[in-house]
Amino acid sequence: MNTVVEPIKISDSEWEVMRVIWTKGKTDAKTINDLLSSFKGWKLATTKTLLGRLVKKDILQTEQSGKKFVYSAKVSEEETVRSATENIFSHICAKRVGSTITDMVAEAELTQEDIDNIQMVLQEKAPVSEVTCNCIPGQCICKENEMEEKV
Ligand SMILES: [Zn+2]
Repeated sequence: MNTVVEPIKISDSEWEVMRVIWTKGKTDAKTINDLLSSFKGWKLATTKTLLGRLVKKDILQTEQSGKKFVYSAKVSEEETVRSATENIFSHICAKRVGSTITDMVAEAELTQEDIDNIQMVLQEKAPVSEVTCNCIPGQCICKENEMEEKV
């Protein structure tokens, strides 16, 4: 039995649609399109295509309400953001996660409250003595160095 949780993978355009649905709760294609069309230049058909894909991916559910279809989210915004972040980190060497987070903190606009929260998390963080590389040999320099040491 595969217990690995599949990452939630959505495109940039699908994100735009999801953000409206997360904000509004239950909503229909026309309402979403009215909000996004002037910014995105989408036609109703485009929005409907995106909604169809999101239903197929099991991220949205749809039900008929009178003459129209109403869409609602099956996954929360928080869950999706978390999954996207985990997905990004799964594409880099585990040894580089720390420096990537440092860069993210350095570049982000943060309030004092954000900074306090980050500092609190850091204070309670238990360090490991060494991070183990999780890459396929050839994908990062760690294993090349290891191989050279063994020669
Ligand atoms: Zn590595």
